[in-house]
Amino acid sequence: MKIYLDNAATTQVAPEVLEAMKPYFQDEYGNPSSLHDKGIKMRKLINEIKKDIASMLSCKPGELVFTSCGTEATNFALKGLAFSGSAKAEIITSKIEHHATLHTTSFLEKLGYTVHYLDVDEEGFIDINQLKSLISDDTLVVSLILANNEIGTIQKIEEIAKICKEASVYLHLDAVQALTHMSIDLSSLGADLVSFSGHKFHAPKGIGLLYVKEGTHLENLFHGGKQEYGKRSGTENVPYIVGFHKALKLGLSKMDAYRQRLNEYASLVLQMLDQANIDYILNGPSLGQNRLPGNLNISFSNIDGSDLLFYLNKEGVYVSTGSACDSTSTIPSHVLRAISVPEQYIHGSIRISIGTYNTKEEVIEATKRLINVLKQLY
Ligand code: PLP
Repeated sequence: MKIYLDNAATTQVAPEVLEAMKPYFQDEYGNPSSLHDKGIKMRKLINEIKKDIASMLSCKPGELVFTSCGTEATNFALKGLAFSGSAKAEIITSKIEHHATLHTTSFLEKLGYTVHYLDVDEEGFIDINQLKSLISDDTLVVSLILANNEIGTIQKIEEIAKICKEASVYLHLDAVQALTHMSIDLSSLGADLVSFSGHKFHAPKGIGLLYVKEGTHLENLFHGGKQEYGKRSGTENVPYIVGFHKALKLGLSKMDAYRQRLNEYASLVLQMLDQANIDYILNGPSLGQNRLPGNLNISFSNIDGSDLLFYLNKEGVYVSTGSACDSTSTIPSHVLRAISVPEQYIHGSIRISIGTYNTKEEVIEATKRLINVLKQLY
């Protein structure tokens, strides 16, 4: 039995999502910008979908811009603000961001922006006092990862949003790992810009969404046919928009049960490791409200995480070391460095991410295989 426990890297397309998308590849293939029935039907469909997504996320349909992925959404948010003509030239982010943010901010640094990287504590929560001390009249935007892809930390946004609002600074959140895994209400979140991505919740890869609060001016990155209310040119990817919508609906309808089940499975893994007397550290917050459900970032002492990954792969268990983008690198991830994982543990870190389709039996079997591999390696 092959067991996929890398759902933070990506998820399978849900069967219901695939079914919903199918008609839009061959029968309903009209271009939403065409002025005949086949096009108008697609325009109406996209408008209806936006209305529905807006009601699910508590925002206005006109505040939603479809993109090609989460990376594009974040690039659009940060570069869009940076190029919008504001005189403000400082950006605040954190040391535990995804590379979609970090590589965008380092690009902006090359253009002359000053970027501050906030420290985090051992569980991955940002230093609020440092944020307060760094925010100034020159701060354009604070950009933070809402739910961390590696260690599952869910930032306490309420206070952060208050600080940003009082200072008239834009707040961008990377919520790529968060959507359908925790509740998100854009009307009360306090963010001006929020990035999402479909493939983290059973929509296909290649579709993302950016929430742009009404009144937030972004310079366009794509110029062309003025789709997406003129904000993001390019013919709309109708089948993938349909898939995103269906997956969001499905995910939100099952979210409470999903969270409970995954927290249960995650604690089962830890219990089994404890019973087998394995020496490990759980990186990030303890299981529960402040951590993404199903996320287990675990470090084992004096072991190489890539060896562990290799042997687990041979045993048919698919996990990740750090973030998927770092999987060929043996350098400890910037996130684990930022939370100060002790040296003898930091190299032996894996991320297990349990998902919607994992069964309890799979989780138990995978943990047994993990324990066996560890015993062979020690
Ligand atoms: N932000 C976070 C937190 C992620 O986990 C990912 C994907 O790994 C991204 C951004 C990038 O999203 P996408 O793969 O849709 O470009």
